[in-house]
Amino acid sequence: MYAMVLKKLGAALEWTELADPEPGPGEIRVKVAACGVCRTDLHVVDGELPDPKVPIIPGHEIVGRIDRLGSGVEGLSVGERVGVPWLGRTCGGCSYCKQDQENLCDNPLFTGYSRNGGFATATIADARFAFPLGEVGGDAALAPLLCAGLIGWRSLVIAGKCKTLGLYGFGAAAHIVAQVAKSQGRSVFAFTRPGDLATQAFARRLGATWAGGSDEMPPEQLDAAIIFAPVGVLVPTALKAVKKGGRVVCAGIHMSDIPSFPYSLLWEERQLVSVANLTRQDGIDFLGLAPKIGIVTETTQYPLIQANHALEDLRTGRFEGAAVLVP
Ligand SMILES: [Zn+2]
Ligand SMILES: [Zn+2]
Repeated sequence: MYAMVLKKLGAALEWTELADPEPGPGEIRVKVAACGVCRTDLHVVDGELPDPKVPIIPGHEIVGRIDRLGSGVEGLSVGERVGVPWLGRTCGGCSYCKQDQENLCDNPLFTGYSRNGGFATATIADARFAFPLGEVGGDAALAPLLCAGLIGWRSLVIAGKCKTLGLYGFGAAAHIVAQVAKSQGRSVFAFTRPGDLATQAFARRLGATWAGGSDEMPPEQLDAAIIFAPVGVLVPTALKAVKKGGRVVCAGIHMSDIPSFPYSLLWEERQLVSVANLTRQDGIDFLGLAPKIGIVTETTQYPLIQANHALEDLRTGRFEGAAVLVP
């Protein structure tokens, strides 16, 4: 197999030939057909997450076909198309796992961070954490659903019963969430980097009621806002934009420091919460819903060997929607 391997934090990924991995008990080997590129991959590469592991193969939005089953795997078969998400394994025994909060497991493995991921021609996954994807939809089009879609979905659920929803950072996750929110009859207000008129037009095309720069206030007060951009200064900005009792959801795994802000921004029962990881139930719920809504993902495809290029384009916001690597 071949993979783009992170050998040193902060360094470029290296095209590397590796021995074909064998699935252990309960594991599957997946021939990768497409793997989305997520902002979390940038945080991994940049060494911004705790307890980094190198060498590591990043990538946690994997779509591929099973080409070998480890012993004891049930309910999946060779040739079946599956998705492998960020949540690679949980312990099953901690207090969180036992209370339907496996996203907060004390002893998890995360795909492309603490176990090898999908910037490769093949990967090994724990069969219990892979999602059967069926045959509807293209591989590259489905890949962004595995994290951008799933985290976006969890964030939207946690945002609650809002009618007016702000999305700060209109990238891979927001462009999917906007479609879900619209299908539920909500109004979406999209905030981009100031002056990014192309992304604002993209947001309007996907049904946003309003789109503007993150330095602007929306034309009406919002019930809730989700912050996808890893920019701490957006926290007080979003709190300012939500009405009394409104909720601000931070959806990213990493964010620059949040500047201090007057208590009045939080007062009147505004809530500030974060979203971490996903549960398998999130995957079942969202991946079941996505084809019914008819979510269309906007993808820019790169050959696997150009993973560094894709990461840099993500960093600088050079494409709309999501980047996807194809072997
Ligand atoms: Zn991700
Ligand atoms: Zn656990």
